[in-house]
Amino acid sequence: MKLIYEQSVAGRPGVKLPAADVPRAADLPAGLLRDEPAGLPEVSELDVVRHYTNLSRRNFSVDTNFYPLGSCTMKYNAKVLENAAGLFSPYHPMTALLPTGERFSQGSLGMLHELGRWLAEITGMDEVTTQPLAGAHGEMTGIMLIAAYHKAKGNRKKYVVVPDSSHGTNPASAAMVGYEIITVPTAPYGDMDLELFRQAMNDEVAAVMMTCPNTLGLFNPHIREIADIAHAHDALMYYDGANLNAILGKVRPGDVGFDVIHVNLHKTFGTPHGGGGPGSGPVGVKTSLVPFLPMPRIVKKDDDSYALETDRPASIGRTANFFGNFGVMVKAFAYMAMLGREGLIQVSEQAVLNANYIMSQLKDYYDLPYDQTCMHECVFSAGKQLRHGVHAIDIAKYLIDRGYHPPTVYFPLIVKDAIMIEPTETESKATMDAFIAVMREAAAAAEKDPEALHTAPVSMPVSRLDETKAAREQNVCHMKW
Ligand SMILES: *Cc1c(COP(=O)(O)O)cnc(C)c1O
Repeated sequence: MKLIYEQSVAGRPGVKLPAADVPRAADLPAGLLRDEPAGLPEVSELDVVRHYTNLSRRNFSVDTNFYPLGSCTMKYNAKVLENAAGLFSPYHPMTALLPTGERFSQGSLGMLHELGRWLAEITGMDEVTTQPLAGAHGEMTGIMLIAAYHKAKGNRKKYVVVPDSSHGTNPASAAMVGYEIITVPTAPYGDMDLELFRQAMNDEVAAVMMTCPNTLGLFNPHIREIADIAHAHDALMYYDGANLNAILGKVRPGDVGFDVIHVNLHKTFGTPHGGGGPGSGPVGVKTSLVPFLPMPRIVKKDDDSYALETDRPASIGRTANFFGNFGVMVKAFAYMAMLGREGLIQVSEQAVLNANYIMSQLKDYYDLPYDQTCMHECVFSAGKQLRHGVHAIDIAKYLIDRGYHPPTVYFPLIVKDAIMIEPTETESKATMDAFIAVMREAAAAAEKDPEALHTAPVSMPVSRLDETKAAREQNVCHMKW
């Protein structure tokens, strides 16, 4: 495929601009004026449409292919949610901040307030801020709230405890707020080692950050005990709820001892995740942390109108402009309204059922280091395939040739050559069966023809990339089309 600049033909522009009716180069200083025309490509509208449509077809997306990316929930997001977000587009985000603005933004403020209430209900928390712009931003906000809580109480705290299966953002967020990290290993049964956790705890621990189910897709049955041990040291329990698909409507983290949670609306609640798109990581807290929440807070007054409250002396301040990524919140609100209570419960039931189905159908073909009923995702190891010199990455690349986005590989770090599969609730049995068949084919190919797997993918514009270099020195022009 030629680059758009290479398709340019002089004198064949896609648009004709009307003659300018303002003085050219009005008052611009001479130094800022161009010496020559901008050198834009001259291509017809049709050329441009074909170019970008063809480019888009070289991408994997949930709209085109099954995308079983563990820990990241690539589920289908209904298009009607985009319509809902579009309904709000005429309203400028600053409206509410004008002196008379609250009067003109009652609908937006009401939606945000209600969304916070729904998320509080779902997570078992008392209040929610919708400001944070991503999961990691929510984590940092949550840890800042915890730091403010300890400071107000005069507690001297130094550490945040995380299990070794934790998402990398957890220790990173805690470190950004100034804490040192204590990592607790995973026991052979797949959960954080309870005895080692007990030993790691001390009065200088500010918080324990966990996700439950953890990144092995396993629900920790000792979660209450862990919370009790933490609370005995006046350490707070932080729940990484980036992915709520596993427990929606079943378990409320606030009911099992957690004090702070963030949820990723762009994973569980109606917005696709990834590609650097807009995200939203609301944070929910128990009453003891409410005074520290970011401001302004949206409050509902006695006459049922909404107002912005800025007089909150203990607040950690603002964490985002414009109340966060507003469009993502509209989609989350519409998603919950559309599914209702029963629908949200079905989400987790179906997500867990699907993951267990895939696990049961592939466990004879791939090693399953933690062989238990899983939650929304299951983690295999390419251990059997390693004996033939085939790694998790080779299986992943083979899947690309067969029309599947690879699962997450090499994460969690505690599983050798991990292959982490999350089908989500939106996939049909037929889609999963087709995927299972291809995963079995890959296992057979690893035994018979390992070399073929080493060269995959062969059907794509690019084959094996140096992925570290590709991420650090992104230059898409070097691709061979
Ligand atoms: C995705 C994810 C995060 C980080 O969310 P971002 O929005 O990408 O910052 C944190 N924890 C877990 C478990 C996740 O899956």
